[in-house]
Amino acid sequence: MFTYFMPTRIVSGRDCVKNGADALKELGTHALIVTGRSSAKNGALQDVLEALDLCGIGHTLFDRVMPNPTLGCIREGVALLVSCGADFVVAIGGGSPMDAAKAIATLALQERPDEEVFQGGFLPLALPMAHIPTTAGTGSEVTQYSIITNDFAKTKTSISSPAMFPRVAFLDGKYMQDLPKNITINTAIDAFSHAAESLLSRASTPMSEMLAKEALKTLYPVMKRADGELSLSDRDALLYGSTLAGMAIAQSGTTAVHGLGYCLTYFRHIDHGRANGLLLGETFRLCEEKKIKELQTVEEACGERAQEIASVIDSLLGEREQIGKEELLDFARRSAENKNVKKSVYEPTAAEIERIFLRSFGK
Ligand code: NAP
Ligand code: FE
Repeated sequence: MFTYFMPTRIVSGRDCVKNGADALKELGTHALIVTGRSSAKNGALQDVLEALDLCGIGHTLFDRVMPNPTLGCIREGVALLVSCGADFVVAIGGGSPMDAAKAIATLALQERPDEEVFQGGFLPLALPMAHIPTTAGTGSEVTQYSIITNDFAKTKTSISSPAMFPRVAFLDGKYMQDLPKNITINTAIDAFSHAAESLLSRASTPMSEMLAKEALKTLYPVMKRADGELSLSDRDALLYGSTLAGMAIAQSGTTAVHGLGYCLTYFRHIDHGRANGLLLGETFRLCEEKKIKELQTVEEACGERAQEIASVIDSLLGEREQIGKEELLDFARRSAENKNVKKSVYEPTAAEIERIFLRSFGK
């Protein structure tokens, strides 16, 4: 028995923001546009402004979202939304602006003191949203999750509600054409990790499995070449694959790789996708040792053995960060209780989590 829920309308293709502008009319009369500091200004923002103007919709820009958004940044966005009278939100960017937009759209309708935001339990109530991804990685445009830096618990915490699914996602690979190589690699690995982890999740369903397998088939051949020049159709493939992977984790959630990676991002400022990549090889090794049959599904979809996949990721990552043994053991302790860890079919014990951290950094 399983359920499937993914209520986001996907509008995909070249120039879909302008050509599909009608989809914005249903959302409201004044948009708060949420972006990072600069990258949206290389084309995506212009397309959104033209689309909104075409529909006669007013707009206010909030362009202050930093990577790994903080609650302070989200509060700033909510205050601007209230003062400008916006009744819906348009997010443009990578996972950070998209996740910030979800939290802004939710907190605008449900007031919570800071210390209670991370406890979850949100009502399914948020302002409508349109999302335009400019990285091919998080799949946030089709998930109900918003991942926020949690300074109380010194980690990153996912908050969610069914109302956090955007109403519309516009997918156009042209926005990724000038994405720097390291961001292309890190975000492609994030998408790959979503699909692989979805297959390795206890909460995997027949629908999420279908989506995750298709995501791997689409992503993996392009990800392997992500350290070289990518064509526009490669960009489209990575974006389609990352959206499929997002649809998969919307059903199954992620697993230990994400759960452990949050420490690397919080304490070491390692990019989210790279953090996952650094831990994937040792996680695959653990699955092999434990003869986890779901790993074979990952291998079949990629057409390669897990250790071959691990060495592809290894060469994409280049030199690994130097992290001392004590610090890695501290990360292992902090990660052991993470809820994603407990969802892994390979059920890592505390000792196995330590081993993943230590071996991933050559200790
Ligand atoms: P990001 O943090 O959104 O952006 C990283 C960098 O990439 C920023 O400097 C950004 O610049 C730049 N950038 C974005 N698009 C660009 C473009 N087209 N050209 C040039 N530069 C561009 O990166 P991300 O990896 O997409 O998102 C990571 C976040 O998503 C993390 O917080 C992670 O926890 C979260 N996440 C969420 C989900 C989910 O389901 N909701 C899943 C996985 C991860 P600007 O700041 O100037 O825009
Ligand atoms: Fe992720």
